[in-house]
Amino acid sequence: MSLFAERVGFIDTENAFKIGPYIRAIEEQGKGVIKCNLGEPDFPVPPFIKEEVKRQIDLDNTHYCDPQGILSLRKAIAKHFSEARGIRATADRVVVFPGAKPPIGLCQQTYCDPGDEIIYPSPGFPIYESFITYVGAKPVPVHLKEEKNFTLSGEDIGSVITDRTKMIFLNFPSNPTGGVASPEQLQDIAEVIRRRCSENIRIFSDEIYEHILFDGNKHHSIISCPGMEKITILVSGVSKSFSWTGGRIGWALFPTVEEAEVFKNLNINYFSCIPPYNQEGARMALESPLSQDAIRHMVSTFQGRRDLVVDGLNSIKGIRCQKPKGAFYVFPNISEVCKSLGIMEAFQSLPPPLRQRTSPSTLFQMFLLFEYQVATMDRKSFGRIGTENLHYLRLSVATDTESLKEGLKRLSAASRDKKGFDLFFNKGEHFC
Ligand code: PMP
Repeated sequence: MSLFAERVGFIDTENAFKIGPYIRAIEEQGKGVIKCNLGEPDFPVPPFIKEEVKRQIDLDNTHYCDPQGILSLRKAIAKHFSEARGIRATADRVVVFPGAKPPIGLCQQTYCDPGDEIIYPSPGFPIYESFITYVGAKPVPVHLKEEKNFTLSGEDIGSVITDRTKMIFLNFPSNPTGGVASPEQLQDIAEVIRRRCSENIRIFSDEIYEHILFDGNKHHSIISCPGMEKITILVSGVSKSFSWTGGRIGWALFPTVEEAEVFKNLNINYFSCIPPYNQEGARMALESPLSQDAIRHMVSTFQGRRDLVVDGLNSIKGIRCQKPKGAFYVFPNISEVCKSLGIMEAFQSLPPPLRQRTSPSTLFQMFLLFEYQVATMDRKSFGRIGTENLHYLRLSVATDTESLKEGLKRLSAASRDKKGFDLFFNKGEHFC
């Protein structure tokens, strides 16, 4: 009898959390690490939100509360979605979760039976793919191509829809590419879904970066397209827009009250409820007129850093990087650096079981981390299936400007250090 159930072997992870211990171990040796790995804004929570949370704690609002989410917050969410997306959202269709992440796996459990197919973007947020095999469904990645600016068309989605398609994950602005969808692009995707799918499929539209857009770009959602509100689950939260990843408040608007009830019951089973004082803080974030300025300040800072990092990366021989339109990541192609440092051959020389667990971009990521103290994420951290020959890194610009400048210097030096890579590789450690 084995200790673990079989399904435990089928779940993957989010590596941005997994490399934390490596970073701490390096820091304990007295070396400073430039952290471009993290998916969280480096700003404090805006003061008016903090004040509200403190006030709520002083009011002793610290007990169990409505497992669906407190009504005042659900009303604020429904109002925000209705105004911003041109829909008629109601509080009884909203469920609050401990972050925007939990609804990913909970939706897959709720809507998918074994053998059902789940379409998701690759590169994309790793948890979409991670859960699919855990729930026994079939992962169907749609590969976003650099030569098409990592965009997603109706044709791309159409080419992978089958009669087993049960869920389609969309994420704009997107992690890790910073891609933003135009209304035309969303209409095109919606048209294919309307034509090809039953009303029992669900689109999971992850809009957690809805406020983080550059160069005057506007946020658009598939839920605003004709016929989509009745099949779309709209997800967002406070983690990114309000720089509040530790608050653990996210939410989803479901197509029907009946579905919201199912998720309320899952909340009862898993969490009982979400801290009410933080929910009041989230309500304040959505309702306060001060939010706009706080977001504007953060986004313009990200935009300046994006320009710095994209220009810096493009000036390094062997790296090319597109300019993201939203979120706070850049996603450079490092194929030529992998070739010039001999990483491709090094990778091929590894025994097959180890090769399975690493990749050329992982070897460069680890070389950068251990020898140059720059933390980044490799390509396979954003979807593994079919990505063996793709060589990218993700860097977060949610790190202060001086650190980013230093990080670029180190990256540039690492990209020319063939001898250093050989020494790192010959040590035989930290390949994945
Ligand atoms: N979706 C995407 C696309 C994300 O990038 C993240 C966080 N990195 C999440 C969901 C999860 O957000 P939360 O911290 O609110 O659970």
